[in-house]
Amino acid sequence: MNSSLIFFLIIKILTCNTSCFQINESKPVRNYWGFYAHRLINKSAVFLLPPEMFGFYKKNIRYIEENAVNPDARRYIIREEAPRHYIDLDVYGEHPFDSLPKYWKEAVEKYGLDTLNNYGIVPWHIHTMKFRLTEAFKRKDTEYILKMSTEIGHYIADANVPLHTTENYNGQLTNQVGIHGLWESRLPEMFAPHYNLFMNKAKYLENTQLEAWNAVRNANMALDSVLKFEREATQKIGIDKKYSFEEGKHQRVYSKDFCKVYHKMLNGMVERRMRASIKMVADFWFTSWVDAGQPDLNLLLDPNFSEEQFQQMQIERKRDAQSKKVNSRQHETVPID
Ligand SMILES: [Zn+2]
Repeated sequence: MNSSLIFFLIIKILTCNTSCFQINESKPVRNYWGFYAHRLINKSAVFLLPPEMFGFYKKNIRYIEENAVNPDARRYIIREEAPRHYIDLDVYGEHPFDSLPKYWKEAVEKYGLDTLNNYGIVPWHIHTMKFRLTEAFKRKDTEYILKMSTEIGHYIADANVPLHTTENYNGQLTNQVGIHGLWESRLPEMFAPHYNLFMNKAKYLENTQLEAWNAVRNANMALDSVLKFEREATQKIGIDKKYSFEEGKHQRVYSKDFCKVYHKMLNGMVERRMRASIKMVADFWFTSWVDAGQPDLNLLLDPNFSEEQFQQMQIERKRDAQSKKVNSRQHETVPID
C-alpha cells in the first residue's frame, strides 16, 4: 500500500470515525467484520457469562471491546497473521468439508503448511486460541486471559462471516467488488442498533474444534445468498441509485436506499451471523474457564488499566496498522480507531 493511500485512509477514518466501507473498484480488498462489529460482538459476549465470570469480564469490558481489532492491525507486522482470519473453502473442491481434515495435524499431513497458509486457517486457529486461553486461566495470568479472550473473540467473529469462507472474498470474481465492506461494515453500522443481541447464557462445548467448523459451515451456507441478493438488490434499485456521496466521506459509498433493500432481502442474515458470533465467543470463554478447573476470577490481579494505558494501546494499534513490514494479501483496510 503506498503512503498516499495510507494517509488517505487515516484521514478518512479520523474524519468519519467509522470503518472502511467505501468502495474502491481499482483493486480487490480483503476487509474483515468492521471495527464496529468486532467491538460490539466482544462486548455483547460478556453479558452471556455466568456470575462467576461476569464480574471479571465486566470490569475489563473496555479492554475487551477496544482491543477486539488488534489481530487485524497485526496483519501488517506479522506474516503469519493474515491467514488466521479466513479460509477459502472453494479451493478445496466441491465438497470441502469432506476433503478438509478437521484437525490441524491431519490437515498439515494432507495439504502441507504452505497450502493451508495460502488459503486460510481460521477454524484451526480458533482451536489453538482456545488452548491458549485455557492455559491462561490455568496460570491465572490476568493480562494473558484478557488478551486471549479478546483475540479469540475476533477470530470467532471472522469465522462466522460468509465472505471469510471464499476466495471471492470481495466479490472480485463476480463483478461485485466492495461487497465485503458492505456486508460486514456498512450494514452492521446502519442496522445493528436495531438487532436483538440478547441470548441464552454461555454453555459448555464438548468439542471446540468441531464447533469452529460448524461456524465456518454455517457461514459458508449463506454465501450464495450474500452474492445473489446483492445482484438482485442492484437490479431492483438501479445502478444509478446504488451509490451515493455522504458528508465527511471522500469516496462514494453504498447508498442508504440500496443498503435498506439489500438488508431486507438478506432477511436477518447479518443479525443471525452476529448473534451466532456473540454466543460462540461466550461459549468459548466459558468452556476454556471450565477446562482450566474454574479458577476463582475474583482472586485475579486487577489490571486496573489507566486512561494513559488505553491511549498507549491505541497508539500501538495504529502503529501496527500503519506498518508496511508485511505486504498483507491485498488488504487495504487499516484498522485505526
Ligand atoms: Zn480479522
